[in-house]
Amino acid sequence: MIKSGKDTIFAAKLIREGKLVAFPTETVYGLGANGLDANAVASVFEAKKRPSFDPLILHISSTDDLSVIFKKPADIIYQLADKYWPGPLTIVAKKTAKVPDIVTAGLETAAVRMPNHPVALKLIRQSKVPVAAPSANIFGRLSPTKPQHVKEQLKTIDYLLEGGKTDLGIESTIVSVKDAKTIEVLRPGAITIDTLQKDFPHIDFITGSGGDSLTAPGQLKSHYSPRKPLYLYDELPSELPSYAALILFKPYNIPSDAQSKVVLLSKTGDIKEAASNMFGALHSLEGDSEIEQIYAVKIKEEGLGIAVMDRLKKAAYRFTNFYNDHEIEAG
Ligand code: AMP
Ligand code: MG
Repeated sequence: MIKSGKDTIFAAKLIREGKLVAFPTETVYGLGANGLDANAVASVFEAKKRPSFDPLILHISSTDDLSVIFKKPADIIYQLADKYWPGPLTIVAKKTAKVPDIVTAGLETAAVRMPNHPVALKLIRQSKVPVAAPSANIFGRLSPTKPQHVKEQLKTIDYLLEGGKTDLGIESTIVSVKDAKTIEVLRPGAITIDTLQKDFPHIDFITGSGGDSLTAPGQLKSHYSPRKPLYLYDELPSELPSYAALILFKPYNIPSDAQSKVVLLSKTGDIKEAASNMFGALHSLEGDSEIEQIYAVKIKEEGLGIAVMDRLKKAAYRFTNFYNDHEIEAG
């Protein structure tokens, strides 16, 4: 059992000593280390079994730290920070030499965010360093939204700061600042592209070019996966057998002969509530010995639905694209 509790001073001391601390944020639990200490960051990669090509996000508690991390941060970076921080927006821009290469997987850019969670902010402030923190799970597996999820996956970390269930339950929106007029959305999240575009009408927010390219090495097609087959449906599946569980984002009329366990993520069909419960539901079903397969009915890819479907498609990818991958590997 890993040591856990609410002692941020103890946790901050561990961070300064180069140790690993999992902590809550408003998105998901993070696995933190001193972001300016290459050895400490190496232990994060090791604990998560994360490939070294997948860069980490640095977490800060004050915008004063931006100039430590970014080389001559542009005005738009401060404007984005002003508008959305603390909050679920990660900003990518050219880094300084102070940020070790291991943090950014050798890229010339670094990713930064200020999380909106009192425990996270306290930890970062008391650590007095930027805290490098990917999600506190084993690479490729389900993201952790509760302390229990961290305990199940990471057995070798030094401390877990407990903070209950995370509020949003979905990872931050990642944007990359290209120039004064162009920003690329590398990963959809709770701050939607519509919101960004409405708040910054003079900027062009673009998507897409990062998908398979080296600018976003972490944007893999398969990620966030349960260890059981997950299948996505456009409509309610016609067969609902007892070995499957069905995840729904809003209520449906379930046929009376359906055998599947039904997990309704929001009784009122509230997308924010459903998104916040999504990873928790996948974790429970992954651990449910009665269930062999998980079905989910897709939602519309608009607003927060874009981020939700991004995670669901990646979670389902290896179960629906086995033959494609096989061909690519064989070729
Ligand atoms: P995680 O913290 O596990 O949600 O993963 C963080 C993600 O941030 C990575 O998988 C990358 O996709 C992204 N990221 C971090 N640093 C950079 C960077 N310098 N350029 C582009 N993407 C980045
Ligand atoms: Mg992750």
